[in-house]
Amino acid sequence: MSRLATLAVHAGRDDLAGLGVHVPPIDLSTTNPVPSVESGGAAYEALATGGLPPAEGGLVYQRLWNPTVARFEDALAVLERAEQAVAFGSGMAALTACLIATVSAGKPHIVAVRPLYGGSDHLLATGMLGTTVTWVEPDGVAAAITGETGLVIVETPANPTLDLLDLRAVTAAAGDVPVLVDNTFATPVLQRPVEHGATLVLHSATKYLGGHGDVIGGVVAADAEWATKLRGVRAITGGLMHPLAAYLLHRGLQTLPVRVQQQQANAIAVAEWLEGQQHVERVYFPSGELVGRQMSGPGAMVAFAVEGGYAAAARTVEAVRLITHAVSLGGVDSLIQHPASLTHRPVAAHAKPHAAVLRMSVGLEHVDDLIADLEYALKEAHR
Ligand code: PLP
Repeated sequence: MSRLATLAVHAGRDDLAGLGVHVPPIDLSTTNPVPSVESGGAAYEALATGGLPPAEGGLVYQRLWNPTVARFEDALAVLERAEQAVAFGSGMAALTACLIATVSAGKPHIVAVRPLYGGSDHLLATGMLGTTVTWVEPDGVAAAITGETGLVIVETPANPTLDLLDLRAVTAAAGDVPVLVDNTFATPVLQRPVEHGATLVLHSATKYLGGHGDVIGGVVAADAEWATKLRGVRAITGGLMHPLAAYLLHRGLQTLPVRVQQQQANAIAVAEWLEGQQHVERVYFPSGELVGRQMSGPGAMVAFAVEGGYAAAARTVEAVRLITHAVSLGGVDSLIQHPASLTHRPVAAHAKPHAAVLRMSVGLEHVDDLIADLEYALKEAHR
């Protein structure tokens, strides 16, 4: 059972037959009966330090362990080809836990490649968790590393410009320093960073993993050592995922391969159409040798610069009728937004996306209807 489509449907469900059920139960218990003070105390100790549940002593408390969340984590780890995964209340809570783990290990320096999602950029730029950051180009990673560097952080494809970077080159340049890859845009369907040397793979699960715009979550796939550290941080700081969210995300994983493949096919058609448009100055869509070697396809996110700068870009997003003008991405319905004003608003002026750029998350609608909506909006914006 090693093909991704099969794993997506079945992973994280090994215990169901034994429970006599066909779909994962949603375990909402915030607390669990403690069999004895001795075994309960030992279980608390194990779980609060990031360990797995011991055979005796129970699960103690939902902040320490939840079976519904654990099934989603197991499934995501399988898809990412990682040993384990740890789920959080949001993508930002997941990144926060990685940074806290790094700071508390005495390695507060982060090397990061822009662009990153605006919220991640913001968190690093504020330094509010005690980190310092050196922003580099991909070829500047090795030179920026110091004895205090705890993480190298990259995104590929990057939000919002869809820039790609070579993960093999970055992980080689990082040497012993763990590389965290935000794999939200690619998903494990198109790219599995662990296979290219990454130590931590982060998702805003809110996006493609959920796929229907109805759940916020984050998850980090990692080796057992890092997963233990992250569960320890989660147990202490409390950025946990709710079991209902985990249920929805686990269900979302089952259709992830078909959604991503079809959304990608639509995005390829949209990107090709945009290339030929009079009022589109530039199309941002993954291409080059990394598509095929590192990613199995370009993905389903498209960005484009509109002729006429900020004003024309604003008029375009305000004119769409089928596509929704909204932040977020990765769902079955198409969304479009203006990164410089919204998702990347907190980014330093010199690193902000160009004011003419729009970012579109291409959904599962018929591609002719999407193109007709874009055609109408571009025409309205340039009347
Ligand atoms: N990483 C990327 C690439 C994102 O696009 C986002 C959100 O848009 C995040 C991380 C943060 O995730 P969340 O909104 O689930 O906290």
